Amino acid sequence: LPRLPVFEAIAGHDPDATVVIHSNSGRRFRYGGLLRDVCKVRNRLYEAAGREDIDGERIAFLVENSYDYVVTLLAILAAKSIAVPLSPAFPAPELQYILNHSEALMLLSSSKFASKAEEVLKTELDAPPSYLQLTKFHGDDGGTDEKVTLEKSGPGSAGMMLYTSGTTNRPKGVLLPQSVMTAQARSLLQAWEYAPSDHLLHVLPLHHIHGTINAIFTPLFSGSCIEFLFPFNADAVWRRFAAPFLNPDQTYNPETTPYNHRKITFFTAVPTIYSRLLATHKTLPPDVQSAARTAISPCNLRLAISGSAALPTPIKRAWCDLSGGNVLLERFGMTEVGMALSCGLDVADRVDGSVGWPLPGVEARLVDVDTHQVIEPGQERDAHGRERVGEIQLRGPTIFAEYWRNPEATAKEFVDAKDGKGRWFKTGDVAVRRAVDGAGKSSAPSQKDWTRGMMYFILGRRSADIIKSGGEKVSALEVEREMLALPQVAEVAVLAVPSGKWGQKVGAVVILDRENVPEGKWSPLEMRRALKGRLASYKIPQVLKVVEHIRRNAMGKINKKMLVKEVFQDEFS
Ligand code: ATP
Ligand code: MG
Repeated sequence: LPRLPVFEAIAGHDPDATVVIHSNSGRRFRYGGLLRDVCKVRNRLYEAAGREDIDGERIAFLVENSYDYVVTLLAILAAKSIAVPLSPAFPAPELQYILNHSEALMLLSSSKFASKAEEVLKTELDAPPSYLQLTKFHGDDGGTDEKVTLEKSGPGSAGMMLYTSGTTNRPKGVLLPQSVMTAQARSLLQAWEYAPSDHLLHVLPLHHIHGTINAIFTPLFSGSCIEFLFPFNADAVWRRFAAPFLNPDQTYNPETTPYNHRKITFFTAVPTIYSRLLATHKTLPPDVQSAARTAISPCNLRLAISGSAALPTPIKRAWCDLSGGNVLLERFGMTEVGMALSCGLDVADRVDGSVGWPLPGVEARLVDVDTHQVIEPGQERDAHGRERVGEIQLRGPTIFAEYWRNPEATAKEFVDAKDGKGRWFKTGDVAVRRAVDGAGKSSAPSQKDWTRGMMYFILGRRSADIIKSGGEKVSALEVEREMLALPQVAEVAVLAVPSGKWGQKVGAVVILDRENVPEGKWSPLEMRRALKGRLASYKIPQVLKVVEHIRRNAMGKINKKMLVKEVFQDEFS
């Protein structure tokens, strides 16, 4: 195998340590057999391609969350090709789009998704990829630990291509060379201190950065254990968390405790998952409820992380109460940049509404959305004392290389740095920076050089979340946060609604909390009254629509441009 940093790390781990557990069956796989399996699958890719020079070719794959997924991803890197993970939940036309757009040389599938693969291959494809079904390619159940040699050969064009969530537009192909993936992993290793003793519960889809880099690629570097439980099911997740604590007489025994009954120490998810877990906890039998609370207490669950969308403060508070003080750690990331900003490991560094500081190795700046000037530290307020809102721009080794076959988009989203050091990526997300009392003082060595100075607070997407109403700028996220704190509101999306008078006005689409609004009626007047005192009057929504359902994509995100047209049709004329 080529000498990639991830392979070197894997080769250095205890061969008996667990790399993957399948939660349902309890089946486990060891680090000791991993590279051998990677080697086997890499060779099968060569065979199927009929050649060994598949450097830089895109190889798409449909594999369930399992040991096989991990092996497939690494085998593609080992072939110096570009791994394009596909979501089995995508309908055929969506997969067809990705195969065409990525110009995939090969499509791989597990036996489970063979029919899905066949369905896609039947669609009209520009250049049909060759198809390989992977069956029974892993044979590690206590096999030998015969070493795989790592050659001196370089990484070539090895990497991964992930498609963005498509929240604002057609998904874009983001090219992440393995050097970028490695830099992202190293940054997270330092910030979140992944350790060999960590046992992750993995409940996320595997075609997004959150599920792949944070919860597979990085733990492989640290020798942690990844337990797959997928698809997400709140009841099953609680029972899994609770398992080690259900029978207090049964003490942990490394010889006999089943692997899928061991303590979870690390969990990462999106806000909607936390919200569903909180709602489901109440429905569990009393013994499971109490064991689950023990399982997520800060002394057992070392780290619970939230990201991919803004974390509503009520969810953060409720999780903290339920767990006896486990404060969710919020971070900000994107397909293009991996994780860029994060709160710190010190509880004092997990400030409500903030996504923290630039992660180790990441350089961040804010560029004023009005004046287009860089907001230097100390210039966070304008001459009138108003907070300056800026677009987050990023640079460093963790930033992606390019949008695949889209040089216009790539050129548009990067600006050359004036100091001659590379280029800045324009995230399209806007934020403010604030000094926070008591935060940023961690003395832990891993935190010292990055959890310092002012913290970032995300206001939302420049294109959809900044509502310009009568000369004022309103952050949809801020309004959502306050609305979610009201007992009447279960879910909310705050939107820019066109207005003849104001340019735009603040609109809200709300799902009511039926326990607190039993008749299911809530008037704009009642809403405004409830928000008075919480928000300046110009930020309080002028129009309100109560709905039963708000459509979200797989990562819990809302396409606001679509939603506003659906819900406030009448206002568009
Ligand atoms: P597309 O680019 O195709 O429109 P997308 O931007 O939703 O889709 P992703 O790369 O999956 O695709 O998501 C990145 C975006 O998610 C960020 O730009 C930001 O808007 C949002 N996001 C991620 N983490 C947070 C967070 N902690 N708080 C607020 N927003 C977040
Ligand atoms: Mg995006």
